[in-house]
Amino acid sequence: MNNRQLFLSHIAQTSPAPIGIEMVKAEGIYLWDKEGKKYVDLIAGFSVCNIGHSHPKVVKAVQEQAAQYMHLIVYGEFIESPQIAYAKLLTDLLPPSLNCVYFTNSGAEATEGAMKLAKRVTGRSKIIAFNKAYHGSTQGALSVMGDEYWRNAFRPLLPDVYHYDYNDDAVLAEIDSCTACVIVETVQAESGVTAPSKEWLQAIRQKCDAHCVLLILDEIQAGFGRTGSLWAFEQMGIVPDILLLGKALGGGMPLGAFVASQRMMHTLTYDPVLGHITTFGGHPVSCAAGKAALEVLLEGNYIKAVDEKEKVLLKQLVHPAIVSRQHCGLWMSLQFASEKIAQSVVHQCVQNGLITDWFVFAPNRLRIAPPLIIREAELTEVCATILRSIDEVVNTG
Ligand code: PLP
Repeated sequence: MNNRQLFLSHIAQTSPAPIGIEMVKAEGIYLWDKEGKKYVDLIAGFSVCNIGHSHPKVVKAVQEQAAQYMHLIVYGEFIESPQIAYAKLLTDLLPPSLNCVYFTNSGAEATEGAMKLAKRVTGRSKIIAFNKAYHGSTQGALSVMGDEYWRNAFRPLLPDVYHYDYNDDAVLAEIDSCTACVIVETVQAESGVTAPSKEWLQAIRQKCDAHCVLLILDEIQAGFGRTGSLWAFEQMGIVPDILLLGKALGGGMPLGAFVASQRMMHTLTYDPVLGHITTFGGHPVSCAAGKAALEVLLEGNYIKAVDEKEKVLLKQLVHPAIVSRQHCGLWMSLQFASEKIAQSVVHQCVQNGLITDWFVFAPNRLRIAPPLIIREAELTEVCATILRSIDEVVNTG
């Protein structure tokens, strides 16, 4: 059997159409397959590689930490300096109320931990979430996922969860003194990069305050500069009670986190003790990698350049076949008239050396989320390739 056959038979498949290219190397914004073909990673490994692939400083941090120690013990027992150093850096960059980090292995686990924390702190069970939201694939996270098609096959899920439309004021009446939390993406990712109205998020914040409800902001995809500020909520004039981080948090290594106040987090240490536990969460190598990646992001001033790069995309990505664009920083979706056209364009982009994809709840939209280190000249080339790919699809019908 060749590697493709092994992949299809021994690696559990959940996509009916995996991209299925065997990559052998990744560096900066580029990937190389085993035939030597070079691709631009236009989606940054799904918003993970904000500083590109295998940055030398991240590789060095991984090597040094792996040589010093890897797994020692379950979460929260020994003092592990990579965890402390990264938590200190993160909390220094966050508002004072977000001063305590619980590191997990993934985004979904951060969602799980945050919902448990909200129940524990408030003593309530009602959860409010949004249609077209994605917070992870585990059962709690699936319960707040915003589409019944994906939830239905796995019911029963968490009870007492209510979904509303993103950006719709109807949710405000539902936030009451029985509600434990509202979980919402600061920018909704899988509907195709839907930015919220600032007033809407502020009204949710006010309603939460009025009824002592915790506001959980999911920045697992929106975080780490993608929207033009380190944290997307900075642009919204609100601060969450619990912040969810993942993806770019680990600099290419598996890492997630929920961040809250130390006072709230303390509730996980009694009644019951060990209120949330994990063997590998906050793995020292992942923390060392994540910290190095965040330092590269900050030192390189990449976030400041996001606005200009967004303008390049907006100026150049104009084509009669693009029905609409949604965007927020270096993050954009291009809508086509049908799912078929969008998927053909995605396929054609891959043929032309651009790795892209569509969105879970918007299969008629093409995803653009390159590493933030991409240069303007490279973006211009990328735009030309996208437009050429669209022409090739449209012209061959
Ligand atoms: N939240 C958002 C907004 C996401 O985009 C994702 C993953 O795509 C998750 C949560 C879940 O993260 P993970 O895949 O690491 O479990």
